[in-house]
Amino acid sequence: MSDSSRAQLIHIDVDRRLGHEWDEWNGDALPNAGNFDSPPSLFFRWAMLTLAIGLGLVAGLIYLLAPRLAIFGAVIPTVLWMALAGTSMVLWLWFGLLTLSYVLRKPLLPEKLAERGPFLRLMRWTSRVAGRFGRRDWVENAAVKVYDALAIERGRKVGKGELLLLIPRCLSRATLDGVLAIAGKYEVPVFVATRGQLARRVIRERRPRAVVAVACERDMVSGLHDVAGRVPVLGLTMTLPAGPCKDAGLDLDQLEAWVKAYVVA
Ligand code: SF4
Repeated sequence: MSDSSRAQLIHIDVDRRLGHEWDEWNGDALPNAGNFDSPPSLFFRWAMLTLAIGLGLVAGLIYLLAPRLAIFGAVIPTVLWMALAGTSMVLWLWFGLLTLSYVLRKPLLPEKLAERGPFLRLMRWTSRVAGRFGRRDWVENAAVKVYDALAIERGRKVGKGELLLLIPRCLSRATLDGVLAIAGKYEVPVFVATRGQLARRVIRERRPRAVVAVACERDMVSGLHDVAGRVPVLGLTMTLPAGPCKDAGLDLDQLEAWVKAYVVA
């Protein structure tokens, strides 16, 4: 591969510096050698649990406060219960349509009501609930797969210069070479984000029309939550055989597929 056909790298750091998402890592090897590959159904199961917990907490609060609220008006608890019932119905209907969009591979909801809207919040809350049970990375892996499937259904295309490939600083040398070769082949600018905040800044400043982002599950879910509402993103998670933030690997075929999905031939 000649140098001219490879994308230019803007910045790279090679030492392990933990991203803040991994602050609590104790240095042990990650489960399954840092490969959190999971079926998308895992996300749907945990998302249902998250919705049920959220609604249950609100119901508990109304139940506890109802006697005091009734002092100000006997009708207040009734109104709150009815509001909760209405919200539950809307939420479960929305979740049903989202699930159907995924299963049928047909966008049944506008993107601002799906993967570029409330889905991002649900993904974030689901990851918090899963984190309490030590399943965060697995559930986030599944969540990103669901997110990508919903995003790809839109069939969005952009010009080569309008796409940005965002990669983290922790890729192994061989993986980085593969990424740069793909970026060079499709003439897509690459940016190495040393921190999540920097990734968000480069998107603000360069204003791409679409982004293909690579990150670990943790960074991906928080990044999508912050950015995907503003710019269309496809995300690709990595494997972390050497632990977090160092020598990460990724599926280069999938990366090329995501770049091709966006770039006009
Ligand atoms: S993307 Fe890489 S550097 Fe960033 S937090 Fe994840 S493992 Fe660490």
